[in-house]
Amino acid sequence: MNYHITTIPGDGIGPEIVRETCKVLNQVGQVFGHEFHYKEILMGGCSIDAHGVPLTDEALETAKGSDAVLLGAVGGDVGNSRWYDVAPNLRPEAGLLAIRKGLNLFANIRPAYLYEELAQACPLKKEIIGDGFDMVIMRELTGGLYFGERYTREVDGVMTAVDTLTYNEKEIRRIAVKAFDIAMKRRKSVISVDKANVLDSSRLWRKVVEEVAKDYPQVKLTHMLVDNCAMQLVMNPGQFDVILTENMFGDILSDEASMITGSIGMLSSASMNESKFGLYEPSHGSAPDIAGKNLANPIATILSGAMMLRYSFDLDQEADAVEQAVQQVLAEGYRTGDIYSQGRARGSCSQMGDLIAERIVKK
Ligand code: NAD
Repeated sequence: MNYHITTIPGDGIGPEIVRETCKVLNQVGQVFGHEFHYKEILMGGCSIDAHGVPLTDEALETAKGSDAVLLGAVGGDVGNSRWYDVAPNLRPEAGLLAIRKGLNLFANIRPAYLYEELAQACPLKKEIIGDGFDMVIMRELTGGLYFGERYTREVDGVMTAVDTLTYNEKEIRRIAVKAFDIAMKRRKSVISVDKANVLDSSRLWRKVVEEVAKDYPQVKLTHMLVDNCAMQLVMNPGQFDVILTENMFGDILSDEASMITGSIGMLSSASMNESKFGLYEPSHGSAPDIAGKNLANPIATILSGAMMLRYSFDLDQEADAVEQAVQQVLAEGYRTGDIYSQGRARGSCSQMGDLIAERIVKK
């Protein structure tokens, strides 16, 4: 099969980690008989330098015309870069908002997986970690509190700020469908997180999620209140498979879940629209402090590439091969600086890419 991928290397370490991911995807193509065709576009600081804006309409059209988008990272040293001496809508990160909006990406998927080999980086006690954890957080990305009407004004002589949290049933249904679809590819459990004891939007959320669940009889649905979920993540993370939640709860819980894995260079993510189209990117930023030094850990981006294979192209076997290759390289003791521990082999960004690509096999 032929697949058309828009690549956005972006700024900082972005070009290095995207290069290594394409190396791995190309090896997947060779081993499994697929062709990946790439079109590169500019976004972020590099687009500001070339065109004066963080994302051009033409670049967005190129992304729309492809099967999926692979993004490195955008942005520079915020305290020390000419890109930040301008209005917020002209800064590098405005490109991210523009592309997410332009591609209608409403579903954000962030896995949190603890590699046995990196367990010492997990801040939780051994008895809590147990056999490890492997979850994904499905966060609604375009509704709720962050997009509701807001204002600050004086009421009876007192400054008062108002933010509104709105969800309609269509917005809830489409994200719930995504969560159940993904649960079908995993351990078939969805924990839907809300605050239904207080919020109307959560009560509607719960009702619609229960309706969607009827179409997925093999998936077990459980409801959990958000405050309990925040505790359960650090008390018993192994219980979670797919966590489904609204925008603000997901924002907070996905950071909490990332932190218990202990290593920012390992965390992949995807944002999807109603079809199988998605934008795949690491959860970390452009790391300007190590840019251009071949020191970055490319694994988060490579694992984002595996998510692309699984969720946009339905290539589950190929995605498994990438994830297993990453696991094998870690088990053999190779580490980039960010995940280095004594007694391991310290590798560069490009060496990690080579090692992972070499271990892609068809089982
Ligand atoms: P960051 O994630 O770029 O870096 C935080 C720390 O983690 C740094 O010490 C960095 O060296 C390290 N790090 C990050 N990724 C790594 C990797 N793959 N391998 C090894 N070490 C890694 O966060 P920041 O410093 O707050 O932000 C830097 C720039 O990135 C800013 O301009 C910010 O706006 C931007 N940013 C972009 C995105 C994105 O493109 N989606 C996300 C977050 C931040």
